[in-house]
Parts: sequence; structure tokens; C-alpha cells
Amino acid sequence: MYDSIVVGSGIAGSTAARKLAEHGNRKVLVIEKRNHVGGNCYDCLDEHGIMIHKYGPHIFHTGIKEVYDFLSRFTTWTEFRHEVVAKVGKQLLPVPFNLNTLSMVFTKDVAKKLEEKLIDIYGYGNKVPIMELRKNKDEEVRSIAEFVYENIFLKYTMKQWGQTPEEISPEVTGRVPISISHDNGYFTDPYQGVPDDGFSAMFHRMLDHPNITVLLGTDAKKRLKLEKQQIFWNGTLFTGEIIYTGAVDELFDVCFGRLPYRSLDFKFEHYGEPSYQDRSVVNYTVSEDFTRITEFKFLTRQKKTNGTTIVKEYPFAYGAKEGEIPYYAILNDENRALYERYRELANAYPQFYLLGRLAEYQYYNIDAMTKKALDLAVDIIEEKNQ
Ligand code: FAD
Ligand code: UDP
Repeated sequence: MYDSIVVGSGIAGSTAARKLAEHGNRKVLVIEKRNHVGGNCYDCLDEHGIMIHKYGPHIFHTGIKEVYDFLSRFTTWTEFRHEVVAKVGKQLLPVPFNLNTLSMVFTKDVAKKLEEKLIDIYGYGNKVPIMELRKNKDEEVRSIAEFVYENIFLKYTMKQWGQTPEEISPEVTGRVPISISHDNGYFTDPYQGVPDDGFSAMFHRMLDHPNITVLLGTDAKKRLKLEKQQIFWNGTLFTGEIIYTGAVDELFDVCFGRLPYRSLDFKFEHYGEPSYQDRSVVNYTVSEDFTRITEFKFLTRQKKTNGTTIVKEYPFAYGAKEGEIPYYAILNDENRALYERYRELANAYPQFYLLGRLAEYQYYNIDAMTKKALDLAVDIIEEKNQ
């Protein structure tokens, strides 16, 4: 009945499904265990009529025009440049740390001298990961690095990962490098913003295609069996392709042990005032147990709201308990090696594809995920056409 089965309706699954259905003319079943589509990008109105992001604040940003054009078929955008501040004592400091931040934490003369030095060493407009800045031979540069390390990275990273910046993979803190510029933007991508009427509406349009059937509230685990190089769907041999975007360890009954993840507890609060913090995101980099507060109306740019809703993010170690969601893969050699063992099991099934942040045990932004899903679908279509 179906040519392809896609497990999961996040950005990975929904993009792949649309492409297979539309350009491959394949009949696609999308199976989703939650009662909604969109994966972690899902948004909805809360009981006060305020648009919230249930699984954490999401901003679309990309430099990949193909991705922007693809998603723009399913939504128009409220475009803006995202900015973040860190609350350090009484100050709100621009993050990523940049030359504006420098002038706020050092006296005028010192800041000017340090600015010249940073520009001289790294060049205006460039970016330096904190772990690299800390290794600079110049003592004054290292003193800036120490300030940034202590006040921006150390405690936030301890909260987020339960480990110090030295202990986690350098690519993680490298996502927020020190910027040798006066740009307060959190991202540098030319396209930034949120879908005008929300991410969920965008996903509904993407999945609205005569060749796509969506089945919600159904765990693929109950229907899918991988056995002796053959795939069974509902007990019947399935010879089409399966794109699987769920957790790979669970697919194989965690036979080699669980892949470690960090999870988040989102605490939503509503206030009957026009604003809580006057901006979208404040990172708490030296105090509090939560990492950041997002005030949704400044993120979604929703007009005419009654009051305001915020969310605080409390990280914790994922324990696979009822209701817990694995959000962030903990990338290190040991965990990657464990993942590889699972991947090898999946590789025994040539028409079975692992795609997405869970199935690939990787961190992906929405745009990189969309691109990967588009490419995979094209590969599958081309293979079928040969
Ligand atoms: P998911 O969105 O997790 O989708 C997977 C889907 O598969 C889920 O709906 C799940 O229910 C379903 N599923 C899993 N197992 C099964 C099963 N057995 N049967 C049926 N269904 C199943 N990226 C950005 O670009 N910008 C941001 O601002 C941003 N903010 C983020 C904030 C947070 C807190 C987090 C954690 C991530 C953020 N991201 C952001 C990353 C973004 O969430 C991911 O790129 C994106 O969600 C990956 O999509 P996915 O389809 O791989 O996974
Ligand atoms: N980070 C930090 N302080 C900040 C912002 C980020 O220490 O104010 C570190 C932290 O380790 C975080 C990583 O940089 O996990 C990547 O930050 P990013 O904002 O990309 O995280 P995400 O979007 O995944 O929450």
C-alpha cells in the first residue's frame, strides 16, 4: 500500500516525506508517536492565547538558500536578527561575547587597548572559540578569555551538560564563539526568523500532499520488526524504504546499553503584565539553576497578547523515564563508539535509513536537518529511477 515509511514527523521526517511524495511520486506513510506533527519544533497557543514552543525556543536560521526556498513554500516568515544577553550580576551582556560586550566589562581605556589587540591578532569580523582564546600566548588576551570563560561559559555549561567546557566536545562551546566585531547577533545567517503563523502550521502544509498519510499517536516500535535482513511492517514483509528518525538504541531494544543524552525540564510561567524581561532570551550564565529564560512574545513577535508567557529551562541527565525526552546527544569518543555499534546493526538493512538528531546521535540545527533530509530523499528517488 505504501512505497515508503517515515518514522517521525519532525523536520527530518516531514521534509523527507514531502520530497519523496512530491518528486518521487511515492506513497508515503508518516508514523508519529506523539499526538502532533513537527517534532521538537512544534508550537501551539497556551491557555492564555500566547504562542509557545513546547519543546524549547526555536528560531529558524540559515545560509542555505535551497533550504530557505523549500521551507518558504509552506510558510511566510517574520524575519528578525536574534540577539541574546547573559545576566551577569546586574548587567545584561551581549552573547556571543563581542567587542560591544568588551566595552561593557572593562574600563574605556582598557577596553580600547584590548579591542585593538584582538583585532590585530584575529582580524575584525572573525570568530574565535573560547577554548582557543584561552590558549593565546598573550597574557592580556588570556585575561579576556578567563573573564568570558568564568562569566559566560563555565556555569552555564555545568548546568547544561553537568560537565565543564573542558570535559565536553569543543564543538559544543564552539557554537557560540567570541566575535571580533560589534555585531550582537546570536547567529550570522542571512535568513533568520520564525514562521508567520508558527512552525506547526508550516509542518501541516508540508505534510498536506495526496501521496502522504500521517498516522499520529503510534509508536513505530509496535509495528516495525527488523529480522534477518528483512523488514516487517505490521507483520508483513516490507520492501520499500524506511526512513527512521527515532532513537536508534531503542530501535534495537538498547541491546548494547543506552546512548546518553541530556534532557530539559521546561517550566512555563504566565504573567498578567505586558512584559517580563523586555526581550526574547536571557541566559543565566553565573546564577540560578535554569540556563535561560525565553519570553515568547518577543521571539514569535505575536501581536495583541494578554499578558506574557515565559519558559525556564532546567537541564538534567536523561534517564528514559516516562515523559522524559532525550534532547542533546552527549558527544564524546565513548558514546560515538556505542552509537557506531547500533549503526552497524541498522546498516545490515539496505533500505533502512537513519536520519535526524536521534537516529544519527548528532546535534543538528533545523536548516542542516532539512538539507540532509532533502538530499537523502533525492538519493532514494534517483536510486529507484535507475
Ligand atoms: P525531532 O524534532 O525530535 O523529531 C523526531 C520525531 O520522531 C518526534 O516527533 C518523535 O516523537 C518521533 N519519534 C521518535 N521515535 C518514534 C517512534 N518510535 N515512533 C514514532 N515516532 C517517533 N534548531 C534551530 O535551527 N534553531 C533553534 O533555535 C533551535 N533550538 C533548539 C532548542 C532546543 C531546546 C533543542 C533541544 C533543539 C533546538 N534546535 C534548534 C534543534 C532542532 O530541534 C532540531 O534540528 C530538530 O528538531 C531535529 O529534527 P528531527 O526531525 O531530527 O527530530
Ligand atoms: N554556552 C554557554 N553560555 C552561553 C551560551 C552557550 O556556556 O551563554 C555554551 C553551552 O555549553 C551550550 C553551548 O555553548 O550548550 C552551545 O550553545 P547554544 O546556544 O548553541 O546551545 P543550544 O542552542 O543547543 O541550546
